[in-house]
Amino acid sequence: MKLVLATSNKGKVQEIKALCKEYEVVPYCELIDEFEIIEDGATFKENALIKARAVFNALNDEKIIVIADDSGISVDVLGGEPGIYSARYSGKNASDKENLNKLIDEIKGRKVLSSPAHYTAAIAIVTSTNEYSVHGWMYGTAITEAIGDGGFGYDPMFIPLGYDKTLGELEENIKQKFSHRAKALALAKSILSTI
Ligand code: IMP
Repeated sequence: MKLVLATSNKGKVQEIKALCKEYEVVPYCELIDEFEIIEDGATFKENALIKARAVFNALNDEKIIVIADDSGISVDVLGGEPGIYSARYSGKNASDKENLNKLIDEIKGRKVLSSPAHYTAAIAIVTSTNEYSVHGWMYGTAITEAIGDGGFGYDPMFIPLGYDKTLGELEENIKQKFSHRAKALALAKSILSTI
């Protein structure tokens, strides 16, 4: 079964490919030109559905199955920020590094060196007849330094619950065992098996 991914985020594509080895996973930008998708939903779920629908409509192929991931980090001491704004925390088109540095500064601005935090992933599946959505979460601590260069995004400043190293330091296969994306994809796969 071929799954078209409604993302061009290299970190996500790499993780989703590794977690969905039984499927042929193709980022949509390998099929059509990349285009801007306005993510104006109020939740991860709404934004995942917006992305999946946009790519499904653009591909114009009834047989295709599109999956989209909308994800982000929520930090308790910041009242849940950046949440759905994680990709543009430091401004439109901000790099992962700029976003990470802003998050470190914001946490330090609250006069603490760390805070409980969690990642959320919403995965949407869109076919010609149905739409589905599922979620996964990963809990841990956001710290005010970046350690390690593994993973992507905010991983170098996130220590998962039960570990003493950041996701930037841990092997990728460890993150894949319990990440927000891995949990959401496990649920998505049980839906895909019925399609
Ligand atoms: P989206 O592409 O609009 O869903 O934005 C996701 C944002 O959350 C990006 O800034 C990512 O860097 C961040 N993010 C999502 N999942 C992860 C993860 O597994 N590790 C690190 N950052 C993540």
